[in-house]
Amino acid sequence: MNIKNLQYNNTDISENLKSIKNLILITDEPLSKHTSYKVGGNADYFCIVKNLEQLRKIFDACYPKYNIFILGDGTNVLFSDEGYRGVVIKLSGELNKLKILGNLIKVGSPVSLSSIIKKALENKLSGLEFAWGIPGTLGGSISGNSGTFGSEICDLIKNVKVCDYNGKIHNFSSNQLDYGYRYCKFPINGVILEADLKFKPSSRKEIEKTMKKNMKWRRKYQPIESKTAGSVFKNPEGMSVAKLLESINLKGKAINGARFSPKHINFIENFNNAKAKDIYDLVELAKELIYNKFKIILETEIKLIGFN
Ligand SMILES: Cc1cc2nc3c(=O)[nH]c(=O)nc-3n(C[C@H](O)[C@H](O)[C@H](O)COP(=O)(O)OP(=O)(O)OC[C@H]3O[C@@H](n4cnc5c(N)ncnc54)[C@H](O)[C@@H]3O)c2cc1C
Repeated sequence: MNIKNLQYNNTDISENLKSIKNLILITDEPLSKHTSYKVGGNADYFCIVKNLEQLRKIFDACYPKYNIFILGDGTNVLFSDEGYRGVVIKLSGELNKLKILGNLIKVGSPVSLSSIIKKALENKLSGLEFAWGIPGTLGGSISGNSGTFGSEICDLIKNVKVCDYNGKIHNFSSNQLDYGYRYCKFPINGVILEADLKFKPSSRKEIEKTMKKNMKWRRKYQPIESKTAGSVFKNPEGMSVAKLLESINLKGKAINGARFSPKHINFIENFNNAKAKDIYDLVELAKELIYNKFKIILETEIKLIGFN
C-alpha cells in the first residue's frame, strides 16, 4: 500500500505502535539490511510481527492514514536512498508455519521457497522444483507470481488466506485470483497470510534430479553470488528483454557501483557500494534507450519504492 501526501502525526503513530504488546518495533531502520541489493535508506518504523493480533493492531493504528509496506525477504524490491515514510512490516513467529496435509502443503507467507521445496522433497511431493534457487518468501513469491522454466507459483495454489487492511480475513480459491506473468491480484487488497499449495506424489530421485538441473542452469547463467534482485525487466510480449538490452550494448554498463551484469544482462548488480540511485539510474537509462530505439516501454519486474 502506498498512499501519498497523507497528513499524519508521527507522535501519535509512534505511541500507538509502542502500545502493541510484545511487538518488535524499530525506528529509523536501514532497509539496506533487509534487501538483497543491500541498498535503501531508513524506514520510519520497522515492525516484526509475530501474530495476526499484532498485525491487526498495526492496521488499526495506521490504516488509512499512514503508509504500510509488507516486506518478505526483500529480494525483489529497490527502496530509494531516502527510505520509506511509513511502517515496514515483516511477518514472522506464528505466521511462519508449514504443515503437510497429504498432497497439499499449508504454508505461512513468511516461509522461504527453499524451505517449502526441501519439505516437499522430504515428503516426496513434486511441483515446486522449478523454483529451486529463487530466493524469497511464499508471500513475496505469490505477490509477483514468481516463476521460471514455464512454471509459476500461482498454478500451485488451492486456497490463499489474505488479511485486508481493516483486519478482515478472506479465503480465496485459485479461481478467484487474477494472475499472469509476474502479477497476482486478489479481489481485495491485503496481506497474504498463508496458502494451501497442491503437489503431486513423486520419487525423491526425480525431484532431486530436477532441482539439481535447475540449480546448475542458474549457476551457469545468473550472477547468483552478486547483490541483485533477480531480473530487472519483464519480457515485452513475444520478445526477450535480454536481447533488446544486448542490442543497445548495455552488458557491463556501470553507473558508480551498479552495473548491468556481465553474466546476465537483465540483472543489475550492486558490485561496489552502489546507492539505490545508481541502480535506478541504470533502470531509467535502459528504459530511455529501448524506447528511443524500438518505441517499447519496458516494465520492471522489481518493485521500485520511493522513486518519482
Ligand atoms: C538471484 C535471484 C534470482 C531470482 N530468480 C527469480 C526467478 O527465477 N523468477 C522469479 O519470478 N523471481 C526471481 N527472483 C525475484 C525474487 O526472488 C522473487 O520475486 C521472490 O519470490 C520475492 O520474494 P521476497 O520475499 O523476497 O519478496 P519481497 O522482495 O520482500 O517483496 C516483493 C513484493 O511482494 C510483496 N509482499 C511480500 N510479502 C507479502 C505478503 N505476505 N503479502 C502481500 N504482499 C507481500 C511486497 O510488498 C513487494 O511488493 C530472483 C531474485 C534473485 C535475487
